[in-house]
Amino acid sequence: MKTGKEYEDSLRKLNLNVYLFGKKVANVVDDPIIRPSMNAVKMTYEMAAMPEYEDLMTATSHITGKKINRFTHIHQSTSDLVKKTKMERLLGAQTGCCFQRCVGMDAMNALSITTFNIDKKYGTEYNKRFLKYLEFVQAEDLVCDGAMTDPKGDRALAPSQQKDPDMFLHVVEERADGIVVTGAKAHQTGAVNSHEIIVMPTISMREEDKDYAISFALPSDAKGITYIYGRQSCDTRKLEKGMLDRGNQLFGGHEALVVFEKVFVPWERVFMYKEYDFAGELVENFASYHRQSYACKVGVGDVLIGATQVAADYNGANKASHVKDKIIEMNHLNETLFCGSLACAEEGSKQPSGTYLVNVLLANVCKQNVTRFPYEIARLAQDIAGGLMVTMPSEDDLNSPEIGHYVKKYFQGRADVSTENRMKILRLIENITLGTAAVGYLTESMHGAGSPQAQRIMIARQVNMAEKMKTAKKLCGIKE
Ligand code: SF4
Ligand code: FE
Repeated sequence: MKTGKEYEDSLRKLNLNVYLFGKKVANVVDDPIIRPSMNAVKMTYEMAAMPEYEDLMTATSHITGKKINRFTHIHQSTSDLVKKTKMERLLGAQTGCCFQRCVGMDAMNALSITTFNIDKKYGTEYNKRFLKYLEFVQAEDLVCDGAMTDPKGDRALAPSQQKDPDMFLHVVEERADGIVVTGAKAHQTGAVNSHEIIVMPTISMREEDKDYAISFALPSDAKGITYIYGRQSCDTRKLEKGMLDRGNQLFGGHEALVVFEKVFVPWERVFMYKEYDFAGELVENFASYHRQSYACKVGVGDVLIGATQVAADYNGANKASHVKDKIIEMNHLNETLFCGSLACAEEGSKQPSGTYLVNVLLANVCKQNVTRFPYEIARLAQDIAGGLMVTMPSEDDLNSPEIGHYVKKYFQGRADVSTENRMKILRLIENITLGTAAVGYLTESMHGAGSPQAQRIMIARQVNMAEKMKTAKKLCGIKE
């Protein structure tokens, strides 16, 4: 396994084509806007090397028997799935943000199932190719960006009906040695901190869309790939000299638009090619795994609840009964999210390929809660934090020789707590509920791994309504 330092060094060797604020980024790893997101991914390496986290952070490869980072593992039991949930909560709580590495893990697990199923039906060799690729990812301990979401253009039209055919990533040329693809993937979490990109289709498809039913993996710096970095609320605070106003001084997440302009993919890295009847299955499996992955939000919730309690302590409101009760409510909601992720893991089942898949119904229930509860937890955090969180002056004002003493005097809470510490904890709450980390904690909770309606459709499909109705009729003596 790589150390954190080796991970950072390996990123320096990549030749990524990244744009940020309209300019090409010469040094991605040290860019002050991007750096905190790299720090968060780096934690997935550093914590895997700590003996106390070994059980959660590492696993045994089912192909080589070697010890590997759990982020490159194919789940071999429900116990593996439960450890995945706990690992994600742990990392969310250590970083206070999105640590980005789950999408690749979820893509690989979904592909391990679907490549097997395609081969069974069509006699293809995708699973063999995929396992060879997986062995490489495990041996090199790589970060993979699992790339699913196409820009989608007009939502009322299928991929092949779009005015601009590139609204869904598709094959533009078939060659003896591979395929050439064009299109884009939007909202790609952790893209510029990744060594590899694993592309999957984004929706179920029909025969006329078969050029879009493709899955493959590429090195992230393959020729023809461009990254356009997504900006976040308050991101330019990272360009300021001081650290206080950032809230989270160490970590952050990121998303990017990834453009593929006539990119060549060799056959050995193609895992689905025009088997349109399996596009839906791959999407569903990936989505289910990723809906479980939102245990990360429970970890960020841990940080937010902790910060809220500190803020209440610092201004002397911690004994007020309504404050205590609101913090209980925050914990109740947060632990309910955890229950959903744990439950779908515990109820997982073995697929024909041998991979364990989460319980699809419960994974969707888990994610549906994630689209709501973090907003309520954030609302309660803001309630307890008070308006000062958004009206207080900057760190430079605090340190100003002319007016700094006013800031210190009038924003003092409890006499034994420094104004500086009070400002720090409020900035952290601001960061998670309104700033750069709110991208991950709030809007991504809403739309990541599918918007709320996508889960409701799955819930409707997965529940056994016939059985429920039968029991109800039986209990009240209805005979039809
Ligand atoms: Fe992982 Fe959560 Fe980030 Fe998704 S949002 S990549 S599940 S940390
Ligand atoms: Fe996500």
